[in-house]
Parts: sequence; C-alpha cells; structure tokens
Amino acid sequence: MWRGRIVVAAVAAGAFAAAGQAMAAEQGQSEPQQDDYAPLASGEKAAASLGSVVGAEEKSSSDGSDEPSGVGGAAPSPEILPVARTADTENEVRQLAKSQQVERAREAAIREARQPDYVAPAQGVFTSGFGGRWGTTHYGIDIANSKGTKIASVAEGTVIEAGPASGFGLWVRVQHPDGTITVYGHVHSITVSEGQKVEAGDQIATMGNRGFSTGTHLHFEVWNPSGKKINPLPWLNARGVSVT
Ligand SMILES: [Zn+2]
Repeated sequence: MWRGRIVVAAVAAGAFAAAGQAMAAEQGQSEPQQDDYAPLASGEKAAASLGSVVGAEEKSSSDGSDEPSGVGGAAPSPEILPVARTADTENEVRQLAKSQQVERAREAAIREARQPDYVAPAQGVFTSGFGGRWGTTHYGIDIANSKGTKIASVAEGTVIEAGPASGFGLWVRVQHPDGTITVYGHVHSITVSEGQKVEAGDQIATMGNRGFSTGTHLHFEVWNPSGKKINPLPWLNARGVSVT
C-alpha cells in the first residue's frame, strides 16, 4: 500500500509537485505512467500523509507494510510523481505556469515603461536658459514651481554629494554611469544621502529657494564626463526629454 500513500502525498503537494513534474516532462526527463495510479487508502491515512513524501515512506516502513526492504530510505524517484497526474491537472498546471510567466513578463515590461532611461528633473515653468545672463554666465536651466515640488534624478546614477553648496544653498549631485554629473540646486529639502543609488525619476530633493535664488525654482546643471558645464536643454532633448 505504500504506493497509495505516496499518491496521497503527491496529491497533497498539489500544484508544486505537479508543476515540477510538468516542467520535467517538458524537458523530456520523465514520461507519464497512467497505469501506476492507485486509489487513496482512506481519508485518515490521507491526512497522516499530508506532510511529505518522505514522511509517508518512513511511516510505511515502520508499520511493517509490504514495502520491500531497502527501498524505504531512498528518496522518491521521479516515476512516482506522474501517479498524481491527470490530463486535467497537468493542463491546468501548465496553463498556470504559462500565465504566471506571461504575468511576470508583463509586470517587468510595465516597470520598464514606467522607468524610462531619462526624465525631466522637475515639472514646472521653464524660466531661464543656459548662457549669458545679467552680465555673467548662467550654467544651467531654471524650472520654477511651488515649494516642495518633487525633484527627480534625470537618470540612473549615484548620489555623490547632497548638502550645502555656495550659491546653490543646498544641492544634490548625481553621477551617471557614463561619467556625466547632474546638479540640482536651491533645493528646499534633500531626500537622498550620499552614496545612494538612484534610478531615473527617483525623487532626490524638493524644490526650494535657498542660496542665490530669487524665487522657488530648480537650478539644473549638466557636467559632461570632462567636467565641462554644458547646456542641459539639448542634452535632455537628445535623450527624449523636453523641458518647456
Ligand atoms: Zn539657475
């Protein structure tokens, strides 16, 4: 009767065992053996066998069943598992596994879509561009909005500085994989710490009016890998981001 108990254990293991078996079958590692099917011994024994296949085997050996000696200690061989299968459950398990794969792929695609490679550093009104201004050079662009507006890292990278900076009040600097550094100035509050990894769109600060600033806005700079401050607008535009 041990085989009957194994059947119960396999059934109790449910989709897990069947899924493993289905996968193995797909890899051609086992073949269904329908004639191995044996009916359940009894409800009581079924309950006792719910633990595991190994547990069922041990019980069989200890109560002197017709189990051949020398087999009790062996791990259940894959040929036992097909016993629990019916065409229906196999189909269901296969479809479940398939739908779970599809769902995982879909969720990954959504995450990827939600997290583009580059985003605007903030939403707001474009108030000042890069270049000569007031007899000096403005090395970034300004985006104005209300105090506390989210400021995001424009791309993935590492926060290399987050704190006070002359003229900027508080700033955050993020270094990106290609060596480019983006700078976010006049921020009201910093919401990341130095050394932190960020993704495009992750909040790093909130908009403020600290430092040399005449109104609540973000001052955004791009330093190319050589350390030269370049016009952020064409840099962003070339990466599919428009700031207007
Ligand atoms: Zn500015």
